[in-house]
Amino acid sequence: MDERLIPVFDEVVTRNPGETEFHQAVREVLESLGPVVTKHPQYTDAAVIRRLCEPERQIIFRVPWTDDTGRVQLNRGFRVEFNSALGPYKGGLRFHPSVYLGIVKFLGFEQIFKNSLSGLPIGGGKGGSDFDPKGRSDAEVMRFCQSFMTELYRHLGEHTDVPAGDIGVGQRELGYLFGQYKRITNRYESGVLTGKGLSWGGSQVRTEATGYGTVFFVDEMLRHTGDSLDGKRVVVSGSGNVAIYAIEKLHELGARVVACSDSGGYVVDEDGIDLDLLKEIKNAQRGRVADYAARRGDAHYVAGGSIWQVPCEIALPCATQNELDGTHAKVLVENGCQIVAEGANMPTTPEAIRFLRDAGVRFAPGKAVNAGGVATSALEMQQNASRDSWTFEHTEARLAEIMRSIHDSALETADEYDVPGDYVAGANIAGFTRVADAMLALGLV
Ligand code: NDP
Repeated sequence: MDERLIPVFDEVVTRNPGETEFHQAVREVLESLGPVVTKHPQYTDAAVIRRLCEPERQIIFRVPWTDDTGRVQLNRGFRVEFNSALGPYKGGLRFHPSVYLGIVKFLGFEQIFKNSLSGLPIGGGKGGSDFDPKGRSDAEVMRFCQSFMTELYRHLGEHTDVPAGDIGVGQRELGYLFGQYKRITNRYESGVLTGKGLSWGGSQVRTEATGYGTVFFVDEMLRHTGDSLDGKRVVVSGSGNVAIYAIEKLHELGARVVACSDSGGYVVDEDGIDLDLLKEIKNAQRGRVADYAARRGDAHYVAGGSIWQVPCEIALPCATQNELDGTHAKVLVENGCQIVAEGANMPTTPEAIRFLRDAGVRFAPGKAVNAGGVATSALEMQQNASRDSWTFEHTEARLAEIMRSIHDSALETADEYDVPGDYVAGANIAGFTRVADAMLALGLV
């Protein structure tokens, strides 16, 4: 890291003790910014980087609710409104038992650069709760969501802060959240949440957007070297929203996905994952990938273990943070993997990233690769504002165009700063400069 940025990083660690994921996300960005502060001293003079590392507002609240037996349950809710220089705070809500302030801050910090990189008018934020929807009835999830929104609603608004989904928050949860917002405010304010259902203000392609966008990005990476996805052997971790639609688009473009996973284990299907079956099990039945293996003849299930053992040419981590470490990276390289692109947020550890890049694997970071989700959320906001709804084809074409532009902007910025082909530096610098210039223009706020 550039010596001028070390005190900034040290200050982040001191001011945010124990928030290791947040420290990791900040370090990864600051390590790219050395050449930027050399070229543009105005950013350090106005303390733009120090200010960027401090959220504009952090909200933590109690979420009490009753389970189906009538017992009182208690969770903690969070919303970190990180940066609004480019537009209203925008970023998802995560419901998972591992959620604490450090996770929300890491995700919110990443979101600033991702949203900036998309070129759209959206700031960065993130939220969630340590509530675990897994194993809960629909009625319990509804009561939790209503209690969560009863506290959060006062901080939201289509021009202020616009949440969406993330791990554990899909259309069911967003429906209950939107219903409660509407009830409390007496306003049908579609633009206050994105990822909505099609019949209540949602956009075509939002469900598919992060997975499809991830694949569009990888397609651009391959196209850049005269290659294509056709016939490629791919491993996708996870089996949630991002993973499922990444698999769908990969198959459409001629690749073969041979493995996917959940937190219990992974399934290998040499014939290619049967997506209809996977969707039925995961979406309709809220089942596990073990159930997929049980119902699909030649597929086999491995409980626990690492999905990165499965040989592939392209690896797409689409589950959660730090799921691919140095040991996994070594195995991927030994097995001939050529591209790792992050569908999830920060799924690859710093050690693994170093190892992959040293071994010549082309690596692309989540803030560029998975930006299609939030970009399509911004398209949903545009449609809500103009009371319009676009066709699937039109929206998908816009998504593909945005992913192409993010890819090109990362590569062009890497060239401009003499690190050709470095998608990490390119994405960090391109995302940073747009938001930093806006912060300078807005004065000391
Ligand atoms: P989902 O909840 O739909 O799916 C998450 C998947 O990851 C599940 O298969 C889950 O398995 C697995 N998973 C979650 N936590 C763990 C863990 N600790 N260990 C192993 N596996 C785990 O979430 P999404 O698909 O929406 O999100 C996946 C990733 O993509 C996240 O990093 C998210 O931040 C990122 N992302 C999502 C966007 C979106 O639009 N949804 C946008 C941009 C990024 P299990 O069911 O067993 O928990």
